[in-house]
Amino acid sequence: MVEVNIYDNTVVRSERMFNTSREQLVNRLVKDSYIKSDIVKKAFLTIPRENFVPEYLKLQAYVDRPLEIGKGQTISAPHMVAIMCEALDIQKGQKILEIGTGSGYHAAIVSQLAGEKGHIYTIERFEDLAKTAEQNLKNTDITNVTVVVGDGSEGLKKYEPYDRIYVTCAAPSVPNPLIDQLKDHGKLLTPVGSMYCELQLTEKKGQEIQSKDLGGCVFVPLVGKYGH
Ligand code: SAH
Repeated sequence: MVEVNIYDNTVVRSERMFNTSREQLVNRLVKDSYIKSDIVKKAFLTIPRENFVPEYLKLQAYVDRPLEIGKGQTISAPHMVAIMCEALDIQKGQKILEIGTGSGYHAAIVSQLAGEKGHIYTIERFEDLAKTAEQNLKNTDITNVTVVVGDGSEGLKKYEPYDRIYVTCAAPSVPNPLIDQLKDHGKLLTPVGSMYCELQLTEKKGQEIQSKDLGGCVFVPLVGKYGH
């Protein structure tokens, strides 16, 4: 008699379904030029977005839009994560700061770009979200991301300076502490505005601070000392 383990079969089938949906989404992001480099493409193919959304939304994990993660917050749309990764030009071994951990998905993608010699510090103001993000990262076997609870609008002085800093919520203006905590030749990406905002790339070159707008976007607000 052949015994069929129905549970295992279901798990294998849903894993295949997620893998196929992930590949389809990545192909779309490449076709639409959100993903431009092989390294970003590989990161998106490696990280399972279904691990970072609540159970009841897993079937929507590969729809290209933000999804609720609790506390009125959202996991960013994949195309926005791709735009930010390409703009930051992350190199292996870099030390990176993320403001707004949310689900941990964006940090997980960036962890692949920085490689095992790199490290991501990510700060979240809601302790519940930080705990869930930590668990999501653990379930995904990510070991180079540290989640911290606090007001990220002030940056994270403990581990400064950073090669790259990015904010995943809309700030009223680029917070000064983030510029201070950036290394020389570092890059900082901030959505500036209130919900509807401009993605602003700031580069530090000695005493000179250069900024350019990369286009419109929509984010939940940055709150806190340098927030709304
Ligand atoms: N990067 C996330 C998307 C997060 S949404 C992901 O991949 O899922 C933005 C997050 O920023 C929210 O979780 C919100 O709680 C957080 N946030 C807003 N203001 C903050 C602040 N001052 N410090 C830390 N986190 C903040």
